[in-house]
Amino acid sequence: MSRIVIAGGGSGGIMVAARLRNTLSMDEAKITIIDPSDKHIYQPAFTLVAFGLDEPENLVRPMASVIPPGVTFINDELAAINPDSSSIETKGGRKLEYDYLILATGAKLNWDEIEGLKDNLGKDGVHTFYTLEGSVATKKAIEEFEGGEFVVVQPPMPFKCPGAPMKMALMAEDYFTRKGIRNKTNVTLTTALPSVFSREPYATKLTEIFKNRNIHVETGFNPGKLDAENKTVSSWEGKSLKYDMAVVIPHNEGESVYEDTPVADPSNFIKADKHKLISDAFDNIYAIGDCANYPTSKTGAGARKQAEVLAHNLAARIRGQEGKASYTGHVI
Ligand SMILES: Cc1cc2nc3c(=O)[nH]c(=O)nc-3n(C[C@H](O)[C@H](O)[C@H](O)COP(=O)(O)OP(=O)(O)OC[C@H]3O[C@@H](n4cnc5c(N)ncnc54)[C@H](O)[C@@H]3O)c2cc1C
Repeated sequence: MSRIVIAGGGSGGIMVAARLRNTLSMDEAKITIIDPSDKHIYQPAFTLVAFGLDEPENLVRPMASVIPPGVTFINDELAAINPDSSSIETKGGRKLEYDYLILATGAKLNWDEIEGLKDNLGKDGVHTFYTLEGSVATKKAIEEFEGGEFVVVQPPMPFKCPGAPMKMALMAEDYFTRKGIRNKTNVTLTTALPSVFSREPYATKLTEIFKNRNIHVETGFNPGKLDAENKTVSSWEGKSLKYDMAVVIPHNEGESVYEDTPVADPSNFIKADKHKLISDAFDNIYAIGDCANYPTSKTGAGARKQAEVLAHNLAARIRGQEGKASYTGHVI
């Protein structure tokens, strides 16, 4: 019987566990998920919560209720990987051996990369919708906003759901129009890229939509500092933008448990083959979702496609066959 350990019970971890469990019998594999959270939180709807289009309680489920039947859940945190002995250690002092380890720990929000952000978050016009509490506070602030400079600040890639800041800017513009304060509000979206989106045909179409809706896109803007006193956000390139309300998306990185290990790049994202989803360093370690350094957008939709490939190939491998599925970079 193969022992499969999955670190992370978010979208990627749950989807790959479900697919593996549906394919492999209880005699073929024991599947274990480890996650320090006792709740599963559905992040894509944070944007909807910020505009009152969904309720926070709809996004949260007890972790135990989303673990697929036949999969063991351990409420603990991955603290160390020992690839040489194919084992992991947890914060709670457990040691688990594996035949296959699947890393699915997501992307971590780094609140320190933009100077002045952490200390001012939730205060005086500075918000984020990249956490559940943040999206609730953003909703209140948007409702109370009476006009002025509304700025959505994006970090450089990679960060999860690159579509979400665009959604925030477009939905805010629509909200302010319906509220009747659009004529006294400027909406700005910053991006480190040279245009609002990186790939055609979307780049041209989105540029047109933003222009038609009079949403300013500040390109080539890598945010470095938030000055709450003067209400400005400035970039490493030396540009400074005034805000009355700033909605800030923090930089993303991998979990610190991977720091200085052979599995990770300098940002702690897992280095793995973008088609086979297998670690560059260890053949029996896989990566799925936002924790991996795949050159695609970090989305739940991408993790879903990766889950199909990973589960198909791993199940075949366990049965002594060659899995031929390949991840194509599909995202939505
Ligand atoms: C505002 C917002 C809007 C979004 N909108 C969309 C959208 O419209 N469409 C879309 O497809 N995607 C969207 N996404 C992205 C989507 O939510 C993620 O891409 C998806 O959740 C990735 O799944 P994951 O399993 O890799 O990571 P996550 O779902 O983040 O799960 C990671 C899990 O790992 C656990 N973990 C962390 N560290 C450890 C550790 N040391 N040991 C064990 N477990 C650990 C965490 O507790 C968590 O449960 C959005 C995200 C945000 C924030």
